[in-house]
Amino acid sequence: MRLLRSSSGHERMWQLPQVVRRLGKVGSGQAAADEALTALTRKGRQRHGMPFDRLVQLLACPACWGSLEINPAGAALACLGCGAAYSTAGGVPVMLTESSRALLAAGCDPDPTAGRPQRWWSVWFRRFLQAASPGGTSYDPDQDRRIRAMIQNLGGEAAILDLGSGSRWWGPTVIPMDIDKYPHVGLMGDGHRLPFGDGVLDGVICTGVLEHVNDAEAVTREIWRVLRTGGLIYIAVPFIQGYHPASGTHQDFRRLTHVGLQELLSAFQRLDSGVSGGPSSSVAWILREYLALLFFDRGRGYSLAYMVAGWFTWWIRYLDRFLTRREKAHRIACGFYFMGRKPHS
Ligand SMILES: [Zn+2]
Repeated sequence: MRLLRSSSGHERMWQLPQVVRRLGKVGSGQAAADEALTALTRKGRQRHGMPFDRLVQLLACPACWGSLEINPAGAALACLGCGAAYSTAGGVPVMLTESSRALLAAGCDPDPTAGRPQRWWSVWFRRFLQAASPGGTSYDPDQDRRIRAMIQNLGGEAAILDLGSGSRWWGPTVIPMDIDKYPHVGLMGDGHRLPFGDGVLDGVICTGVLEHVNDAEAVTREIWRVLRTGGLIYIAVPFIQGYHPASGTHQDFRRLTHVGLQELLSAFQRLDSGVSGGPSSSVAWILREYLALLFFDRGRGYSLAYMVAGWFTWWIRYLDRFLTRREKAHRIACGFYFMGRKPHS
């Protein structure tokens, strides 16, 4: 229970959220507040399944965990505790603090092409590579089924966070949150300071994210804090995979073994865990990288070779259909998953 002891604020974790909306407190009265909420809600519905007013009730200030109000003057959210203001972009609340922005900037993978003029043929070359590359990386046809089973299990009234959702969208009970503005993202936030009150969420999904965060233990403690007692988690992390930063945003910091993942999540009651993407997915990924590297060192030659190598190696991952369930598969698995529950103390 290392995770429990390492954070002093968790004694109050059972406390229900104090998030309130005091419409009309700021600006020109109730009418303006209602108008602002209607405008935000309308935009919000286009971006994510959960109604905006329900989402706001779950949110808290990521700087001080204070309650929020909708500020009709600026069509944004304001903290009643520390006074911090949070904007919305196209109906999506941007719940990032200055310290989050600084932390992310420190862990940023610099984009070598940033600031350079983009020549038309360079843009088309990149688009061609994207279109011509075989899709997908690891083979785990069961991951979707496992996540959907968890969402279904939590019911139609649940509030579930997809932490680091990218462009994924699971349905109306799931809040897709990311640090970047992908399509479908309903909330922009940082896993190190989740913009939610204590114990307000019924579930957290977090796949392919913990390798990219500066401090995986801090993010895990945050998942614990925002989850209610009995709430469920589905976490997946990579093991044998190539280095894969998102250029211009987050680095790729770490890998975890199957026991490393269980140790990180040891405060949770384990319901299920195992290989997500087996040894064949690992071999396909590494071989593709290796073949490209044999012939080119960098630049467009490497990118082209990487695309071509993808066509020589993509089929290998499907051998995981036979290998994933073998006892020793975890030794060189592509990644692991962990399903757990926040236990009663
Ligand atoms: Zn605050």
